[in-house]
Amino acid sequence: MQISQEHLLIFSVINFILLIIAIVVAVISSRKYGKIKEIDKEKDEFISMAAHELRAPLTAIKGYLSMIVEGDAGEVSTKARGFLADASAVNERLVRLVNNMLNVSRIEQGRLVFQMDNLHLARAARSALDTFRAEAERKGLEFSVEIPEKISDVVYVDPDKLDEVIANLVSNAVKFTNKGSVKIRLVNPENGAVRLEVIDSGPGISAEEQKKLFRKFYRVESTSGKTIGTGLGLYICKLLIEKFNGKIGLISGEEKGSTFWFELPLSKSELKAS
Ligand code: ADP
Repeated sequence: MQISQEHLLIFSVINFILLIIAIVVAVISSRKYGKIKEIDKEKDEFISMAAHELRAPLTAIKGYLSMIVEGDAGEVSTKARGFLADASAVNERLVRLVNNMLNVSRIEQGRLVFQMDNLHLARAARSALDTFRAEAERKGLEFSVEIPEKISDVVYVDPDKLDEVIANLVSNAVKFTNKGSVKIRLVNPENGAVRLEVIDSGPGISAEEQKKLFRKFYRVESTSGKTIGTGLGLYICKLLIEKFNGKIGLISGEEKGSTFWFELPLSKSELKAS
C-alpha cells in the first residue's frame, strides 16, 4: 500500500496532538502532586504547632498534680490520692501522645537532633518500673523487672529517646492488660547485643494484625475503641530503634499475651571491657 503525503500529514498531526495531550496531563499531574506535597507539609506543620502548644499546659497540669500529692495544698485523703494518681497517669499518657506527634514529623523530616551517649539499659528499665508502678498497681497488675546479676547492658543511644521507646512499650503493656502481669526483662543474646523485653498477659495480637502493627497510625480494631492513642507509638519505636542500629519485634498470639522486644548492639566501651 502506498502512503500518500496526505496520510503522512494526518499521521503527523495525530502524533502532535497526542504529544500535546501527554504534556498537558504531565503538567496537571505534577501540579496536583506539588499541591498534595504542599498540603502534606502544611498538615505536618499544623500537627507540630498543635503538639507544641499542648505540651506547656500538660506540663503545668503535671506540676500542679504533683504539688497537691506532696501536700502543698493541705492534707490529701487516701481516696483523693487514688484519683490524683489516675489523673497523673492520664496526663502522662497525653504527654507521651503529644511527644509522639512532635517526634514523628521531626524524624520524618530529618529534623530530630540526637544527643548520643552511653546508657545502662538496666537503669532505664528500673526507671520505667518506677514511672508506671502506680498505674499498674491501680489496675491490680503484678509489675516487675528481671535483670540478671551479670549483664552487659551499656548501649550507645540518645538516652531520652530510648526512655521514650521503653515508656511507649511499657505504657501499652499496662494499658492493654487488665489482669495478670507485666514484666520488663533484660537478657544478653549471644551476638554482642542486649535485649529488653516487655512481657504482658494482656489480650495478645493475632498473626494477621502483627504484620501491620509497626505501621504509622495502625491500631488493632478490637482494642482501639477502648483506649486513647494515635497508633504512632510503635511506629516511632521502630524508627528510633533502627536509628540506633537495633531491631524491634514482638511475639504474641490471640489470648496469649504479648512480648514486645528490642535488641541493641552493646556499646564499643562495653565490648572492649568484656
Ligand atoms: P497507640 O497505643 O497510641 O494506639 P501504638 O503504636 O503504641 O499506638 O500501638 C498500636 C496498636 O497496637 C494499639 O492501638 C493496640 O491495638 C496494639 N498494641 C500495642 N501494644 C499492645 C499490647 N501490649 N497488647 C495488645 N495490643 C497492643
